[in-house]
Amino acid sequence: MIRIPRPRVLLLDLDNTLVDREAAFEAWAAALVPPDLMPGIVAVDAGGYGPKLLLYRAVARASGLSVAAARESFLTDFARYVRSRPDADALLAAFGGPKVIVTNGLRRLQRAKLVCAGLVGRVDHVCISDEVGAEKPDPAIFHAALACAGCGPEDALMIGDHPVNDIAGALGVGIPAVFVRSRWFADPVGVPAVALLTEIAWA
Ligand SMILES: [Mg+2]
Repeated sequence: MIRIPRPRVLLLDLDNTLVDREAAFEAWAAALVPPDLMPGIVAVDAGGYGPKLLLYRAVARASGLSVAAARESFLTDFARYVRSRPDADALLAAFGGPKVIVTNGLRRLQRAKLVCAGLVGRVDHVCISDEVGAEKPDPAIFHAALACAGCGPEDALMIGDHPVNDIAGALGVGIPAVFVRSRWFADPVGVPAVALLTEIAWA
């Protein structure tokens, strides 16, 4: 457990923080791609941070779909596999204050993920880069999230799995942060890190 001063407002990343994007991606891809080609597809996806055109081309080659059909499947079908993480369910239930999701991505895809993960109605606001017009780590999306919650940076806490987009981005505007470990990134130096959101104890 790590003890973190209880913030007034929680800012939460979506992919690989509140939802298990890793499992959802593998389930989506496994429905299209033979098992022996899966490791290559997962590597091209790189936890969601690989270039999307390369991903669509790789899925097309491995599945026999056209590149356009692979893209459409990603944008339409992938979200159906997205589920909230049990530790995220526990954190959301236990934290009584305002909760704001701050996520990079396309409006269509991120909104569908929120619905499929059952997160709509369990948070107070959602800031999607596509809607805000700024992507993490741009300070503008963090300021938009703080404005939604009506608080200053020192009253919030950002929780996310990307060392730059989530952690450096939040710290850059004065928001304390907690890093969520995944297989894709090393722990950022000097930042509290957890594998599960339930490891956070409010001080
Ligand atoms: Mg993430």
